[in-house]
Amino acid sequence: MDGDQECRQRQPAISGTREWAVAEVNCSLGCPHDCRYCYARYDRVVRRRLVSAAEWRHCRVLPEEVDRVHPLYPGQVMFPAAHDIVAENLDACCRVLAGLLAAGNRVLVVSKPHRLCIETLCRRFAAFRDRLLFRFTITARDPALLLLWEPGAPGYEERRDCLALAGQRGFATSVSVEPILDAADVVAMVHELLPLVSHSIWLGRMNRIGERVVAETDEMRAAVERVERGQEVERIEAIYRHLAHIPLVRWKESIKLVVGLPFAERPGLDV
Ligand code: SF4
Repeated sequence: MDGDQECRQRQPAISGTREWAVAEVNCSLGCPHDCRYCYARYDRVVRRRLVSAAEWRHCRVLPEEVDRVHPLYPGQVMFPAAHDIVAENLDACCRVLAGLLAAGNRVLVVSKPHRLCIETLCRRFAAFRDRLLFRFTITARDPALLLLWEPGAPGYEERRDCLALAGQRGFATSVSVEPILDAADVVAMVHELLPLVSHSIWLGRMNRIGERVVAETDEMRAAVERVERGQEVERIEAIYRHLAHIPLVRWKESIKLVVGLPFAERPGLDV
């Protein structure tokens, strides 16, 4: 078998959000968090040119998506996947979540969380604790790194506090460290967050950097190089060695590929 064949055989059938959910639901266009590596931003701004870069930074609610009647999906549903939950769309997000839960769905709420939003969700959906799993994206602790890569998103402390809050209110909690922005600190960060997590901590690499990240300044080029160094095979293997023994730690397909773990066999398993 040549290298290409081997590589093709190692490509996962289930990747990205499909590892977590059988369906994705969204109700907005645009996201003020404006993450430099965002796939949704790349898709809407660069690839399909639906909105300009400036328009992307404003969250526009899509009424037809808010009013959509959802079925009972055959597994966990992810909401949202192509925007976030922010003050501007909080009411709309609550309506969508209410509809998904009323249909009997298990919902994975993924967010770079704002305290106001998470307090509201915990209050509004307290009766659905057993079917609503929070997953907060926490990619680094360093404020300078977060400001550069996720300029409009809440800081580390606010995200960590939201994790604590959701747990105190009786919800299952999980973390996504995807992409790992600070390979030198990720092991320590995982250990700090673990006491606040009941379900899982997922780790993943930044995918398709050259395609999705526009690095037009020296600062951004240096930041890209730093992430690329952090996800070299030896660094990923070292992170894996430090964390693999922890039962709550899970590896996205981008890391499974490096360390030789089997890929998910079906969408939405979230394990
Ligand atoms: S929070 Fe999510 S949807 Fe919003 S810009 Fe960042 S990666 Fe994209």
